Amino acid sequence: MTDSALNQLQDLARREDYQGGIWVFVEQTGGQVHPVAFELLGRSQQLAADLQVRLTAVLIGRDISHQATDLIYAGADAVLLCDDAVLSGLPEDACTTLLSDLVQLHQPDIFLFGATAFGRSVAPRVAARVRTGLTADCTRLDIEPETGLLLQTRPAFGGNLMATIVTDRHRPQMATVRPGVLPALPTDRSRRGTIITARPPLATGRVVELARVLRQKEPGIADADLIVSAGRGIGSQKNLSLVRELAEMLGGVYGVSRPLVDMGWADSSHQIGQTGQAVAPRLLIACGISGAIQHLAGLGGAQTIVAINTDPEAPIFTIADYRIVGDCVAILQRLIREKIK
Ligand code: FAD
Repeated sequence: MTDSALNQLQDLARREDYQGGIWVFVEQTGGQVHPVAFELLGRSQQLAADLQVRLTAVLIGRDISHQATDLIYAGADAVLLCDDAVLSGLPEDACTTLLSDLVQLHQPDIFLFGATAFGRSVAPRVAARVRTGLTADCTRLDIEPETGLLLQTRPAFGGNLMATIVTDRHRPQMATVRPGVLPALPTDRSRRGTIITARPPLATGRVVELARVLRQKEPGIADADLIVSAGRGIGSQKNLSLVRELAEMLGGVYGVSRPLVDMGWADSSHQIGQTGQAVAPRLLIACGISGAIQHLAGLGGAQTIVAINTDPEAPIFTIADYRIVGDCVAILQRLIREKIK
């Protein structure tokens, strides 16, 4: 860290606006704030009211200053803003260092991230650097009235029970929260708040560009709004191309159950479930997936599930909103054909 950057951060530390309180990391890509940031701000406003502390949105990146007021309209009392070219594309190493420095200087009580690919990568690194714990993939957050501790609830044991975890000895209390499970507040343009800017202390190299290219090439299932997923019932690797085709036609991505990864039909980055990724699409179409506990553990955030299975007793039907008993290959072919017509 350079001396001038250190001075700036120390300046910030002296401002009471950023002492303690709740921080929400605001992820944005190409100038678009990820919806999970608004969801986190919505829930955190209530948590901040319970604790009677300030809610701060932490917004870092390049050409993002214009988003700060939207975060106040969404529930933040203050925005801690770092807008600089070196943060273009949110390079993970640079973001980790910057966020860790800010935490050490301002000591928030609670620091929340979305459980996106970025949040899952950077939040644990920040937690390790500042020597605190992290509860990943929460689906619920509350304040314990007696202690003021953050109750961090998440599915455990393959989704069979919900575990509530507290971080009672270390600060900040850190958690990632699945997208799509907390409600955002309606925009309130009458809200007012403080925006304070800081310059990041870091320079980044070519790694930044590589990460950006890879992300553009392969949109991740964790952030997808629409997923068409396949299980062993798809029958063959050739039939898997139908799933990919329908996903592309509908503007989504494809997911798979673990056996398809084990058989080498798909990359593990597409695997949904306990040992894969948790997903939270608005619509998921599950084709030939039985619905084993380990697979369902990744589906908790999905809003609407359409399941296609030849077995009317398949467990996937117990969580599906729409059930289609039939051959998924024939149904996929028909959906693709009818869309093309
Ligand atoms: P199957 O269970 O074989 O089900 C295939 C389904 O397709 C059946 O319901 C069948 O009726 C139906 N079907 C057959 N033909 C058709 C057709 N033509 N049209 C429509 N339906 C048809 N699994 C994961 O997915 N993700 C994980 O992260 C994961 N982690 C695991 C971790 C551990 C520690 C363990 C032990 C297991 C894990 N598993 C995971 C594996 C999991 O237990 C199941 O074995 C797996 O999810 C089953 O995948 P499947 O539904 O594709 O296959």
